[in-house]
Amino acid sequence: MAFDLIIKNGSIIDGSGRKSFLGDIGIVRDKITAIGKLSLENTKHHIDANGLTVSPGFIDTHTHSEGDLLINPKHEYGIQQGITTELIGIDGMSIAPLSHKNYLIYRKWLSGLLGQPPKDIDTSSIKAFLSNYHKKVAVNTAYLIPLGAIRLELVGFNDVPLNKDQINKAKKIISNGFADGAIGFSTGSAYYPGIWSTTSEILELCSTVQNENSIYMVEPRSSLLERAFGNNGITEALHIARKTNVSIHFAHHRTTEETAGNSSKIMTEIDKAKEEGVDISLDIYPYPSGSTIPISFLPSGVQNGGPDSILKKLKNKQEKQKIIEYLDNTYSSNTRPLSEVSFSYVPNNPHLEGESLMNLANKSKKSFGEILTDILLKEELEVGYVMLPPNNPKTCHLISEDSIKLLSRDDYMVCSDITAAGSMSHPRSFGAFPRFLGRLRREFNSISLESMIHKMTGFPAERFQLSKRGKIQEGFFADIVIFNPDSIIDTATYDSPRQFPIGIDHVIVNGTIALKNGQSTGSISGYAIT
Ligand SMILES: [Zn+2]
Repeated sequence: MAFDLIIKNGSIIDGSGRKSFLGDIGIVRDKITAIGKLSLENTKHHIDANGLTVSPGFIDTHTHSEGDLLINPKHEYGIQQGITTELIGIDGMSIAPLSHKNYLIYRKWLSGLLGQPPKDIDTSSIKAFLSNYHKKVAVNTAYLIPLGAIRLELVGFNDVPLNKDQINKAKKIISNGFADGAIGFSTGSAYYPGIWSTTSEILELCSTVQNENSIYMVEPRSSLLERAFGNNGITEALHIARKTNVSIHFAHHRTTEETAGNSSKIMTEIDKAKEEGVDISLDIYPYPSGSTIPISFLPSGVQNGGPDSILKKLKNKQEKQKIIEYLDNTYSSNTRPLSEVSFSYVPNNPHLEGESLMNLANKSKKSFGEILTDILLKEELEVGYVMLPPNNPKTCHLISEDSIKLLSRDDYMVCSDITAAGSMSHPRSFGAFPRFLGRLRREFNSISLESMIHKMTGFPAERFQLSKRGKIQEGFFADIVIFNPDSIIDTATYDSPRQFPIGIDHVIVNGTIALKNGQSTGSISGYAIT
């Protein structure tokens, strides 16, 4: 047998959860073709993995990298973490399938999250959209159909209910999306225009998702709760799963400052549904706070009409004053989330990146609402933020401990929630996987290396039906990470977020070396998985 590449003498963790074993892995083109004792005489290249762990490449079930992958296809911060596959189209907000006109509209609304991907890409179908990634970016991508794009196509960026005919068209868009290779359907917490849907609309669409034997990924609703069954995002999602039988996946479900140290509390309602037979999985990133776009703070009425209409309202003195009053009344100077906003991405005023809204308000004697509306206007809505972590170190420690407790459940997997725009982006974009795998695994010592790898590889591949991915197995794609389990660790922090982890030596994507001795090779061998 001849090989293109042999990985020699590694401690192989195959991604299934079973115990590691010593061996060699033979690769021909993009596949693993042999595992065992292999002779170096029969290979063009080899990697000596003596003393290192060899595992499947990590599968990141929640990223927002679809914009940046088109801008920076070498995607170094993903590769450096050992990520070889990323799920995109998350939280009900992404850019396909959309007409060109609607692409430009949603691109503008999402610019704080996605940056400025090229204006001229084809987003008209999921198939066309995925062709922008296939063999053109460093990692494999798999796409979920976002509710926001469906609504934008059918009724524009407007707060109107879908009528019966439009619901049928929406179902058709979803079926076509699955035929084009989508792997799920997604909705998001506070993201327009998808959030304008009621429970009954989402329920109708999820019945199609269930018919297609696919999965509904939900970041539970946090806005317009009056439109949700039970006026609660989790209750709404579980109601939809109970009624339609759809398999459901909860996005980054973790404890917060309020629930720190009480991880069982945040699982009560979900566990009850599981006992009734609802098919549920979840994911988590190992940080005590999140990151997203401040445009979603603006009220529903201001969102109506889309980004150009939002800018028009911000430019109108009286309208702007009303928005400021809404923001200041809804989020007074000491209530979350505005009091914990720290700007991560302010491309025209990068000196504001890393500044907290609280600090800017104290310095300028302006209110949160005034500052936020000024910045949104100056940046034409292209702004991102990170939520500051809790002040109290004990709280942060408890949330880390909770994340390990939750991850040790058999229904949890790992995600990063990559939101990488800006010089002060969230550290998760650079460190989520090695943080779990190194820092937290060693500190809490309650999950075996094999089990944690399973939650980053074999488990998500099975759950999202990523064929021939997530395992070291003959016939599977050669997506592989080689790392030192004793030294692997994240180095990205909230105040210095754009730091690569250490301890990961090699990363292989579809048989091509993307990271060699810790250095990115710049390869772009990722496939669009369909
Ligand atoms: Zn997200």
